[in-house]
Amino acid sequence: MKNEMKMKFDAVSENESFARISVAAFISFLNPTLEEMSDVKTAVSEAVTNAIIHGYDGKKDGKVEINCSIEKDVLHIEIIDKGNGIENIEKAMEPLFTTKPELNRSGMGFPFMEAFMDDLEVVSEVGKGTTVQMKKKIGCTPWIEDEE
Ligand code: ATP
Ligand code: MG
Repeated sequence: MKNEMKMKFDAVSENESFARISVAAFISFLNPTLEEMSDVKTAVSEAVTNAIIHGYDGKKDGKVEINCSIEKDVLHIEIIDKGNGIENIEKAMEPLFTTKPELNRSGMGFPFMEAFMDDLEVVSEVGKGTTVQMKKKIGCTPWIEDEE
């Protein structure tokens, strides 16, 4: 079974909760646990916030795209901006690394995405933009899986 959803919206902070809630609504048919739901919302929120404040430096002329697909019980999410891009992805993903300490950023966005999702990949090119890809298995308990 496959199910897909795409959305594209202005890169403004007003749309952060819209993005988080939309993805949550999309996955609700899988009957996720509260914890799974909260993990996905946090990861989406972190990636979208990054696109807005780092990708586009908070300027209002960019767009953020989200592509979601569910294949069997695995959720795939892509969060895409066409903004600044990341110079050193490995460094950017280190805990506590931030290029915006003046905005009281703590450098924990990527570590949270990594912790709350099963898989995280970042593709980025300076001047072209950033794509964050995440995967998570939803709504399946191990003992049910074993019986398949
Ligand atoms: P926090 O998420 O804790 O508020 P942060 O956003 O700085 O702080 P991360 O989310 O881990 O921390 O991101 C680390 C760094 O990676 C950012 O400071 C920024 O330099 C870079 N970065 C992340 N996402 C993007 C993006 N979409 N475009 C450009 N740079 C990015
Ligand atoms: Mg962040």
